[in-house]
Amino acid sequence: MSEGSGGRPLGPWLTAATNLAPAVIGSAPILWLSTVPDATLAPQHVLGLAASAALLTIAVQLLGVVCVGWRWTCFLLAVAWLTFWSFHPLVLVVVLALSGWFALRARENLELIPVFAGAVALWIGVPPLAHELWAALEEVKHPLPSILEVGEAEPRNIYWIVLDGYGREDVLLSRYKAEPVLAAGLRERGFFVAAGGRADYAQTALAMASMLNVARVEELLDPLPATASRQPLRRLVRNNRVIPTLRSAGYRVETNRVEYSMLNLLPDSTHSALPRFTEFEHAMIRLTPLEWLGDLFASESGALSHSLRRAYLKQTFDYLAAAPKPTQPTFTFVHIISPHPPFVFNRDGTPRPAVIPYMKGDGSHWHAHHEHTGASYIEGYREMALWTGYRTLEVVDHLQNTDPEGIIVIHSDHGGGHSLDWDSRHQPDVIDRMAILNALFLPGQDESALRDDLTPIGSMRVVLNHVLSSNLGSGPLPSTFSTWFEPYHFIDVTSQLQPIESTEGHVPTVP
Ligand SMILES: [Zn+2]
Repeated sequence: MSEGSGGRPLGPWLTAATNLAPAVIGSAPILWLSTVPDATLAPQHVLGLAASAALLTIAVQLLGVVCVGWRWTCFLLAVAWLTFWSFHPLVLVVVLALSGWFALRARENLELIPVFAGAVALWIGVPPLAHELWAALEEVKHPLPSILEVGEAEPRNIYWIVLDGYGREDVLLSRYKAEPVLAAGLRERGFFVAAGGRADYAQTALAMASMLNVARVEELLDPLPATASRQPLRRLVRNNRVIPTLRSAGYRVETNRVEYSMLNLLPDSTHSALPRFTEFEHAMIRLTPLEWLGDLFASESGALSHSLRRAYLKQTFDYLAAAPKPTQPTFTFVHIISPHPPFVFNRDGTPRPAVIPYMKGDGSHWHAHHEHTGASYIEGYREMALWTGYRTLEVVDHLQNTDPEGIIVIHSDHGGGHSLDWDSRHQPDVIDRMAILNALFLPGQDESALRDDLTPIGSMRVVLNHVLSSNLGSGPLPSTFSTWFEPYHFIDVTSQLQPIESTEGHVPTVP
């Protein structure tokens, strides 16, 4: 490989560069994915990168032997590979134009094509990747939270269901004109529903990292990171203290196959027939022509990704609504990205066609992508919230029938995002984002001591105090907002989240 098959001999540096080029180009798509807004480096990214690089390297070697010679092979493969992974029309045009120009002008130096493409890939992908790696290394300095002390355990099955983005009943009614069917239905079924339920944080990663460690992020990360990296939160989720504590008390852990890669809790078992499909795989599909090909045969945008999302949501609810009672004490953790966008179901469970390609963003990110489409956040959210509510009640009926002693917690991490501005520390209507559903079913326990302004950390305290005789307190917790790019700059908004007495003057106009 030190010389091309037909051209002049290469210098040692160029030889090294050309030999490395296939691996660099092979890893390009994965490197690009590290620019996904809230992505954090995870093992599957590194595996994907290695697999992709190895695949292209092997392909170049094999084709070089049987085909037209190494230079042409490398050139053609580089173009094909970049074309496949660059399925944005603009990138495609640039790749093809540059490749054509090189092919015509630099026939003796075709190896420069992959070297050039590799350099572009590195230029795009390495800074964010290096940033995440650096953040991960920095993180090692932080000690992990220690396991909680437990008293006498009374293991009972715990069903912990997080409905991502499900707002509080008064806000659903006043901001989204959505009947609070879920809160009302849960009360009918004996749940305590916090009338003034509040989020601990405005973002999923912060909310889950704190709830699974039964402490505020400010206590868990001291000093707080100065960057916007979510890597420290991934580490807190992965090494959380609730799960080892429960395991030490004889519990096993079961989860659904979560769509948010941050929330891999390393369970003992996962109930899902579908392969893993997180924001990472969604982003990967969008780089290829697969999404575009799917759209040729469908009446919506991003049909492939949206269909997968529907299948995931449906499968999770279907499973829970018929799940067998566990044979040993089990902590069942389920995270469902609903009613969070994309809004893919109407209230009756019929598919709600998407008008833009798959996009998980909420709040101002959602609005920016839906400009000029005529789509209504309020309407989409309302339909999705109603569907989520009906399906959740189905699950509750089944769980209460099969396991009447089981503890059920149903809460959200944060509320809706219609008025959410990700870039502003001052939210126009912060109650929309920060008032949440928080409901507990604790058979046999006196609920009069439960706080009406319960947050998810508070719910975890209540449950652990109940089943493990822990002593985690029950005092008030603050609710803090933070922006997308300053996730650790916390602004206390607790006083703005009182239940809305009257909905007059707040009812939005729904098209
Ligand atoms: Zn969320």
